[in-house]
Amino acid sequence: VQARRTACKYTLYKGTEDRESTRRLELMSELRSAIDQNELLLYCQPKVAIRSSEICGAEALVRWQHPQHGMIATGEFIALAEHAGLIMPLTRWVLEAAFRQSYAWHEKGIKRPLSVNLSAQDLRDPRLIDRISGLFATWALPPELVQFELTESALMEDPAGALETLVQLKDLGVELFIDDFGIGYSSLSYLQKLPVDSLKIDHSFVTSMLTNAGSAVIVHSTVELGHNLGLGVVAEGVESEALWDRLLELNCDTAQGHFVGRPIPTEQFDEWEAQSPWSRSPGGDVALH
Ligand code: C2E
Ligand code: MG
Ligand code: MG
Ligand code: MG
Repeated sequence: VQARRTACKYTLYKGTEDRESTRRLELMSELRSAIDQNELLLYCQPKVAIRSSEICGAEALVRWQHPQHGMIATGEFIALAEHAGLIMPLTRWVLEAAFRQSYAWHEKGIKRPLSVNLSAQDLRDPRLIDRISGLFATWALPPELVQFELTESALMEDPAGALETLVQLKDLGVELFIDDFGIGYSSLSYLQKLPVDSLKIDHSFVTSMLTNAGSAVIVHSTVELGHNLGLGVVAEGVESEALWDRLLELNCDTAQGHFVGRPIPTEQFDEWEAQSPWSRSPGGDVALH
């Protein structure tokens, strides 16, 4: 009986695993055409300056609306794109869409920096810097209006190479954020060398900071560390007013999360903003830390 149970369990497990990997293979091969066939969508999530309650920017987040499977989880298909070597065409698509949106805001006189996520593979792409500087030239946008987010883990895949790319990005005059900060094993001596402007505290620490003493200490210390290094500090995953209030007490600069505003299709952002409780910075000024 035990052997049969084990065999049965094995078959069930293997069945699920096969289906899972078949689906992954299918998705991988479909992703390339999805990029060309406009199944990708650009969503935006607001960033709000905590002390002034002003919208001080937005983050560009890609979505994949699959014709059969519906919305595919972003984390899942970014990982697939990394495996399949499809990050570069994906990033190209996101950059085009983000610059288009940034230009639209700029045209309306809205100074709203939009940040784009880059992955580890982008940092190794020898054409990345030329592509980005080409887009700034094509759209005639000032460098303050498009920012970049690099996860701490992506930087740690090749710390020396990443540092070089960050220096080149910084030379373009753009602002840089370290994303998912706190879960990526970077050393303080490396961090101190990086030409970045802000840290984004990983949402796992932020969402649990009111119930977990360890998380609270990490958030508090990261705000201090960032400020002592002359960096801005953004909290991700601000899901409640209680979290917002605590982050205000801790003097954290910027909040992002469901309490502030969920990611929405980019073209709905202005409409969302008009009825949101958050104000736009007076005169459309960029409200940076
Ligand atoms: P991220 O850059 O750290 O983006 C923040 C993620 O947290 C987003 O997930 C966002 O939807 C989610 N989020 C927002 N508010 C809350 C909240 O209050 N609570 C919680 N728990 N989560 C919240 P999303 O859009 O699914 O993206 C996941 C990750 O995929 C991103 O994490 C980023 O690393 C990556 N990603 C997204 N778009 C792109 C892209 O265009 N290019 C690249 N290379 N990576 C991307
Ligand atoms: Mg990000
Ligand atoms: Mg993050
Ligand atoms: Mg994250």
